[in-house]
Amino acid sequence: MSNIKVTHADSGLIRARVVHSEQVTPHMRRVTLGGPDLKRLTARGFDQWVRLALPKSSETRFDNLADSFGVKGYVRFLTLPKATRPVIRNYTIREVRPDLPEVDIDFVCHGDEGFAGPWAREVGPGAEVAMIDQGCGWAPVPAPWQLLVADESGLPAIAGILRDLPRETTGHAFIELFDDADRQDCQAPAGVNVHWLTRQAHEDPGTLALRAVHELDFPDGAPYAFVVGEQALAAGVRRHLVQERGLPKTHVTFSGYWRRGKASPS
Ligand SMILES: Cc1cc2nc3c(=O)[nH]c(=O)nc-3n(C[C@H](O)[C@H](O)[C@H](O)COP(=O)(O)OP(=O)(O)OC[C@H]3O[C@@H](n4cnc5c(N)ncnc54)[C@H](O)[C@@H]3O)c2cc1C
Repeated sequence: MSNIKVTHADSGLIRARVVHSEQVTPHMRRVTLGGPDLKRLTARGFDQWVRLALPKSSETRFDNLADSFGVKGYVRFLTLPKATRPVIRNYTIREVRPDLPEVDIDFVCHGDEGFAGPWAREVGPGAEVAMIDQGCGWAPVPAPWQLLVADESGLPAIAGILRDLPRETTGHAFIELFDDADRQDCQAPAGVNVHWLTRQAHEDPGTLALRAVHELDFPDGAPYAFVVGEQALAAGVRRHLVQERGLPKTHVTFSGYWRRGKASPS
């Protein structure tokens, strides 16, 4: 579930290659993508995200993908032969260096399941990828303070938003991890209180962040809230904010970034 407004950028399909990859923290792999086609990417900051096409094998083709991943583009993708079409996943752009041009994407290494997480762990320089810019999910309404909530999959989004927020912004950011060593330095405005929470192995993803929002003594006025991460976290915080705190639905942007036990659709 999500109410993020997807914007299909004019840049269409952008092709790139892996330049470098490094372990940022124990469970976060940073993959740097580069190549001249990236000059066409408009850097939007905040939580700008992309549909990222990844190679399944040396047979994977990127030259026959649509320029947009709307309904038409998705249907076209499904008609492509399975043997040669890439895997598509959603990822946040962690950093853009337009002068080179390069982008960094931070992948949660969540084990051996799925495709993107294991791919990022193993990939070396030269691998081909493609991406379609989907814009930013963060779409604030005027509000006296901001509430940002995420698990580790939303850490790149929250870090980007904290980096790009006006410096006078106030509020709270809750970032739940499964390993405390996965914390990253965030360039948060001085008035935004960043709370790091670490769940235990027996706790469901999102449990601590959801509880922390329940227990938060809200500053005056209705905040703008941005809530992303495992589906139950995103839906649970939104429900709490709207039903129990009385926030207008327009004040809450939420997105289930992943679902326990369920692979992404493509
Ligand atoms: C707008 C948007 C931006 C996103 N940005 C990022 C980002 O910058 N970095 C990032 O790491 N993720 C991000 N995600 C989440 C990412 O798209 C999903 O985690 C995706 O499912 C990973 O694909 P996969 O091939 O590794 O696993 P899948 O094939 O989709 O799933 C396989 C199995 O792995 C499990 N799984 C998937 N993701 C996780 C996880 N994070 N933790 C634990 N188990 C998991 C599933 O429940 C399933 O059982 C974003 C999602 C959205 C919608």
